[in-house]
Amino acid sequence: MTNNKGLIVITGPSGVGKGTIVKKLLEGNQNLWLSISATTRLPRKGEVNGKDYFFLNKEEFQDLVADNGFIEWAEFADNCYGTPKKEVQNQLSRGKSVILEIELEGARQVRDSFPQGFQIFIAPPSLKELETRIRERGTDTEEAILKRLTRAKLELKAQCEFNASVVNDDLDIAVLEIKRLIQS
Ligand code: 5GP
Repeated sequence: MTNNKGLIVITGPSGVGKGTIVKKLLEGNQNLWLSISATTRLPRKGEVNGKDYFFLNKEEFQDLVADNGFIEWAEFADNCYGTPKKEVQNQLSRGKSVILEIELEGARQVRDSFPQGFQIFIAPPSLKELETRIRERGTDTEEAILKRLTRAKLELKAQCEFNASVVNDDLDIAVLEIKRLIQS
């Protein structure tokens, strides 16, 4: 695989606003390509197969794991998530910078296989604010919310492993900071 430096990982607790940040990064930047992950999670209202995720059942996901079809994969809140390898390789070989929006375990796996890649951690202003954002999203059950918050505490402890850490308090400032990091 060529252009490993072009592999940009964005990690941070569920609900921190990674999706919104990535959308803003992609706007008007033809050189950036966002990898679409596969997941066994059920689609949320409005999510589209092949656009937000490739929604697979457990068997389909395991088949891809067995075929070595993922760059990385991990379990998160009782579901599996993975980065399909083929299209990422394709985009990197075409000289594009590829963004992976993934959780901590996946970021660690990518760090092992692509040490030249650049990894950014997005942190919330506080845990309380993160909880408010997850609850306001209104997409998760109480059980799922608690699982995501427990996981968030663990992920926050790992932010020092990343090349850079950015607090998403003001969205526009966070996006500017990340653009600067990616360009430098
Ligand atoms: P959600 O269910 O909220 O869409 O995603 C849950 C978590 O899984 C988020 O932290 C998200 O970044 C992460 N995630 C999404 N796609 C992938 C992936 O391909 N691999 C890994 N390891 N995590 C992912």
